[in-house]
Amino acid sequence: MAPDRTQVASGKASLRYPIDLRELYSPDDRRLGVVCGRAVLPSNLMPVEAPCPCGSLIDYETCCAPVLRNASAATTAEALMRSRYTAFELQHASHLLATWHPDTRPSRISFDPLQRWLGLKILRTDRGGPADDDGVVEFVARFKVAGRATRLREVSRFVRLSGQWFYVDGDHLQ
Ligand SMILES: [Zn+2]
Repeated sequence: MAPDRTQVASGKASLRYPIDLRELYSPDDRRLGVVCGRAVLPSNLMPVEAPCPCGSLIDYETCCAPVLRNASAATTAEALMRSRYTAFELQHASHLLATWHPDTRPSRISFDPLQRWLGLKILRTDRGGPADDDGVVEFVARFKVAGRATRLREVSRFVRLSGQWFYVDGDHLQ
């Protein structure tokens, strides 16, 4: 659906805060525009206050969006971890598959419609920098399923092949 500028100009829509990003972005929508009431705003009209889902406190457009659009490959394992969390929250299956190591990549990804992501916290990183070929990221991701809050703590392994970071696998911790 192309943005309707007339609709945008005359729209009486207002954003609610905190923003439920799943309402803002369509799954796998490369434009990643903002659905604002009945108006669909192109991404260049997104409010700068739109925080990135990964919890970086950086505007989404300058944080994970370029990585999800393949305009900018993640330069570190942590950046890829953050973009993959954002992809889970936005149900961006193609980014998750493209950044999954071929040896461990699932054939497809299905999203639980009842799952609501609540936030990501990076606990530590080991290697995974621009000069490394492998790295580890430990994180906690919180989510709710059918109203029940759950936290996932994982130590994820990443490798860099031909300059691109890939998620390999992870160990879940209690
Ligand atoms: Zn981000």
